[in-house]
Amino acid sequence: MKRITSVLCLVSITFAISAQNPSAKTMVAPKPVSAISSNAKPKLVVGIVIDQMRYDYIYRFWDKFGNDGFKKLVNEGFFCRNTNYNYVPTYTGPGHTSIYTGTTPAVHGIIANDWYDKTSGKDIYCAQDNAVSGVGTTAPEGKRSPVNMLTTTITDELRISSNMKSKVIGVALKDRSAILPAGHTANAAYWYDGSIGSFISSTYYMKELPTWVSDFNKKELAKKYLSQPWNTLLPIEQYTESLPDDNKYETILKGETKPTFPHNLPETQKLNGGLNIIRTTPFGNTLTKDFAIETIKSENMGKSGTTDFITVSFSSPDYIGHAYGPNSVEQEDDYIRLDKDLAELINFIDAQIGKSNTLLFLTADHAAPEVPNYLMDLKIPSGYVHEKKIIDTLKKQMQKLYGDTLVLSYHNQQVFLNHKVINEKKLNLSLVEESVAELIQTLPDVAEVLTATTLNNNQFTEGSRYLMQKGYNARRSGDVLVNYLPAYIDDYSPTGTTHGSPYSYDTHVPLLFYGWNIKQGSSSEQVYITDLAATMAMLLNIQFPNGCTGKPISFLVK
Ligand code: ZN
Ligand code: ZN
Repeated sequence: MKRITSVLCLVSITFAISAQNPSAKTMVAPKPVSAISSNAKPKLVVGIVIDQMRYDYIYRFWDKFGNDGFKKLVNEGFFCRNTNYNYVPTYTGPGHTSIYTGTTPAVHGIIANDWYDKTSGKDIYCAQDNAVSGVGTTAPEGKRSPVNMLTTTITDELRISSNMKSKVIGVALKDRSAILPAGHTANAAYWYDGSIGSFISSTYYMKELPTWVSDFNKKELAKKYLSQPWNTLLPIEQYTESLPDDNKYETILKGETKPTFPHNLPETQKLNGGLNIIRTTPFGNTLTKDFAIETIKSENMGKSGTTDFITVSFSSPDYIGHAYGPNSVEQEDDYIRLDKDLAELINFIDAQIGKSNTLLFLTADHAAPEVPNYLMDLKIPSGYVHEKKIIDTLKKQMQKLYGDTLVLSYHNQQVFLNHKVINEKKLNLSLVEESVAELIQTLPDVAEVLTATTLNNNQFTEGSRYLMQKGYNARRSGDVLVNYLPAYIDDYSPTGTTHGSPYSYDTHVPLLFYGWNIKQGSSSEQVYITDLAATMAMLLNIQFPNGCTGKPISFLVK
């Protein structure tokens, strides 16, 4: 009898599934979801970027993670374990742009966080737009938009494909990490203004903040989170994956004498940028999570019948990595706490919209090396490049050779030459590039040098030259590109770390898919970050972003 009941149950469940699925005409065994050929779409897409997350953190902190955060994405989702950036420089602006445009700076034009603008002769910031002003702020950080990005994003393509019915909103502490992912046609992007402790936007998107954003800001959560010291979540002896808390590779906050827990945030915030200090604590992630949940709720995302897309970037791990490095108790505590914030966000989405209705991915905008001083103490070749020395030596030698330095700027490891003077002097540009390259190649700490002429006349297919070529934009980049030796970082403080190189410690990031149409599994096959947007386009049955050079990941898309 029991057996008959369960058989009957099974039959009625199968019927129920068939009734819900318009494409299922007969009662056959359900096909794998990836084989569905209808135009079914998820209700919500969630793109999560963890700023400066290395792929190995998944494993290093695994035993410390709970079941509902990173572990849930790995255990129930698909983990592309060998995902790499395929260009230099591996910075935040280009990283976020490449994730969402499916192409590299060569095409999307975001060649760095800020760069020397050849037309104006001034430095420009990747999300700078002087034609707009701040909304919810009077600070210059409000003059932001995606106007410098030359291509569409997957979020733009979703908006266009739905006749602008899909809602797209970007959220992050860093303006560029909110703005560039959300694309040109976003309904909104919101970022954090530390001078007032609020989320703000710009007139590119709106005239005034929606009431729900103002109400959120009125809660003064940043102030609240900073009213307590930052202590480790677990007893400090359990942080066995990190170096001892008191070590010489970490930056000491102003007002503190050691780089150790507890960090007295109520006391030290005045000396360390006021409410901006939240960026360099795990509470920056908590604030971002709070705001992301409020966005989904207040904007009714995933409830309209058309696919909506929220992009969320967690910026604090990057600030913490820059200050304390990858082997600090601070970074470990940051990830243990971020895992809880992530769990809360995933649980909220699962409950509100449903796992089977939500397509989520998680990746990073770049990774990071160990602190070079630490590597040197381990006898591993590493170091700090003195860029001023490079530029001074170069200028001196060029003056001797040509009677003029011919150099306008050295920015993001690129030499910008003075084309006007080169023309006036009737010099051959490629020969001048060659002499710059020869001079720089002889300097210490330099691995290789490539000229624009070489890049324009050759197609590199692998190695760091390929990555340099994919980061080179003919309209915006310099005339000579420099790559330093592995584990050498430019002009940086002796504590903490930075990133930007073509080496795997900077390019290798996690990539996880979860939810709608995603089977459980993992792969160590190499995929590039530019494949992410192409994969999303195939999963959503929409156009690729217009500059996309990536390919759909074969094991996710049939
Ligand atoms: Zn970053
Ligand atoms: Zn960074």
